[in-house]
Amino acid sequence: MTIPVFRFAPSPNGRLHVGHAYSALLNADFAMRWDGRLLLRIEDIDLARCRPEFVAAITDDLSWLGLRWEQPVRRQSHHGDDYQAAFSVLRSQDLLYPCFCSRKALAADVARGAAATGCRPPRDPDGAARYPGTCSRLSATEVSARLASGEPHAWRLRMKAALARVPIGLEFHAFDCDGATTAHGVDPQAWGDAIVVRRDIPTSYHLSVVVDDALQGITHVVRGQDLEAATDLHVVLQTVLGLPTPCYHHHALIRDGGGEKLAKSRMSETLMALRQQGVTAADIRRRLGFA
Ligand code: GLU
Repeated sequence: MTIPVFRFAPSPNGRLHVGHAYSALLNADFAMRWDGRLLLRIEDIDLARCRPEFVAAITDDLSWLGLRWEQPVRRQSHHGDDYQAAFSVLRSQDLLYPCFCSRKALAADVARGAAATGCRPPRDPDGAARYPGTCSRLSATEVSARLASGEPHAWRLRMKAALARVPIGLEFHAFDCDGATTAHGVDPQAWGDAIVVRRDIPTSYHLSVVVDDALQGITHVVRGQDLEAATDLHVVLQTVLGLPTPCYHHHALIRDGGGEKLAKSRMSETLMALRQQGVTAADIRRRLGFA
């Protein structure tokens, strides 16, 4: 029997809050009940937003909660070569194209399309306007010239071409707390030609996460429902990259008293602040149902 491998994968762009504690404790709880392994991964590809002091704070908060994980901790910022290799595989299959659209140009393009059709622009699951495909229509000569001139660009997935390469009825398995699994069909088209390599950094959340889950041998991904739609895109990337698809459990998000999702950007109840107020790790565990 294969040993289940779980991971908690926070981004060090702020202090952990109670929602992170729930996700980490749930991963640890699954690993303990199923004799599995628990890994920690620091998702710090976004060098503009991630800070070293938050990395130290993450390990400090998790240790305070009583969690233990295997070493070494994988830091995405140290593994650019792995993402570059995956990028090359996608490019060699002609599944990517460079997108030179700035945010402003893209917004103008989307507004023009909406005015022409009289329809509201379709949105991707993150709420951003779905890419209208502008740069997918550039000629090869123009693309080469613009790349050669060093014009800033992202790389987008040719979603249609990718879907033509994957089996019809692509799905992943979701597991519940008792280990029962259910097949889930995916709807990756909702993402359109998603960005796989960002303009500002040579990878993206989506590319790094599928590469790392595979390289770390993750069999079971436990993460919040806010990432459920992203799984549809991840399954497509895994399939075209020839990587295994783990099983997924998307847990409910912990909300504040007003019913709002906790967010680092809103200085929601950080574990640090709670600790300073005298709240103990046992209190947090109890509050989150892990007593
Ligand atoms: N790094 C992501 C976050 O902090 C989580 C990614 C994942 O679990 O797939 O929200």
